[in-house]
Amino acid sequence: MKGFRELVTDFSLGKISENVSFQHLTSLKIGGVARYLYEPDSLDSLMIAYKYLKSHQIPTYVIGNGTNLLVSDDHFDLVLIKLTKCNGFKPLLGGEFMVEAGCQSATVGRIIAKLGFSGSAFMAIIPGTIGGLIYMNSGAYKKETGDFLYQCDYLDGLGNLVSLTDGFNFSYRHSIFQEIDCLIIRGYFRFPLAPKGEDPYQTIIRYKELKRNTQPLNEKNAGSVFRNPANIHAWEIIDSLGYRGFSIGDAGVSMKHANFLVNKGNATFEEMYRLVKLIQTDAKKYFNIDLKCEWKILNKEG
Ligand SMILES: Cc1cc2nc3c(=O)[nH]c(=O)nc-3n(C[C@H](O)[C@H](O)[C@H](O)COP(=O)(O)OP(=O)(O)OC[C@H]3O[C@@H](n4cnc5c(N)ncnc54)[C@H](O)[C@@H]3O)c2cc1C
Repeated sequence: MKGFRELVTDFSLGKISENVSFQHLTSLKIGGVARYLYEPDSLDSLMIAYKYLKSHQIPTYVIGNGTNLLVSDDHFDLVLIKLTKCNGFKPLLGGEFMVEAGCQSATVGRIIAKLGFSGSAFMAIIPGTIGGLIYMNSGAYKKETGDFLYQCDYLDGLGNLVSLTDGFNFSYRHSIFQEIDCLIIRGYFRFPLAPKGEDPYQTIIRYKELKRNTQPLNEKNAGSVFRNPANIHAWEIIDSLGYRGFSIGDAGVSMKHANFLVNKGNATFEEMYRLVKLIQTDAKKYFNIDLKCEWKILNKEG
């Protein structure tokens, strides 16, 4: 791992920081420390560095904005990769766009709407990066990332560049990328022109208002914690179990939206994880429903 630090500094491949807390990298503000945080200055630098990491079997983890992540309080002996500077955005012909994985989804959604294309409003209200959106197949208000993506470039488990144009296996908050060892570097999206008389930006304003009114945006959270089971909202199940407002230590169920768990101060991983498990156990016991966690959990067990 020491050799990796030298590689990055000797060849100016970006920024490397040591012992970085996940509390500064996640929206829940929970988690231990990563041995190294590597932020490449470009995709070219990333490709060199990633090839090195893979060929030396150095453990890695990719993080976007950490808005869908619950991290344990451990010390992680790995290189955390954050694509802060890999944020190129290029309009192509006919409503097509190349977007690097480190781009902010909200910015991309707003620009595409401003350019007169329909469908990107959901992106404008999700606080993740494009890499995170593709990986999670994130979505809102009946639109999801997979509806618009037609090509994705990623680095595979050997550090080789792969371009995928089908077989994305998109489903509710799922993509092929969750099944393979990969680092998404960019996506190619296609959006239809907005019909005459429609201002796509107005949709963003409406969605933002809806979010503000229904979600605890001023509290530390990581979005919806459970996927909605078929025919019922997860929040209805949590409400029926009486958990709205319930806490374990500083980990609590939001008063505003029962499918949002919030860090009310200095919640630990242990407290938040126990709360997730408690709700799942009771949903099974009282309603025979398997509530699936939407968050990604990073702990020593992998
Ligand atoms: C207030 C709030 C509201 C939200 N609203 C919504 C919503 O409406 N709809 C919705 O779907 N989600 C929502 N979310 C959840 C979250 O914002 C999305 O899932 C988002 O896409 C995660 O992006 P990220 O960059 O933060 O990913 P992270 O949380 O950093 O990572 C999530 C997973 O993606 C992987 N990943 C990230 N980047 C890459 C990459 N480049 N290559 C490979 N893997 C990668 C990570 O390893 C991790 O497993 C919300 C979250 C918050 C805090």
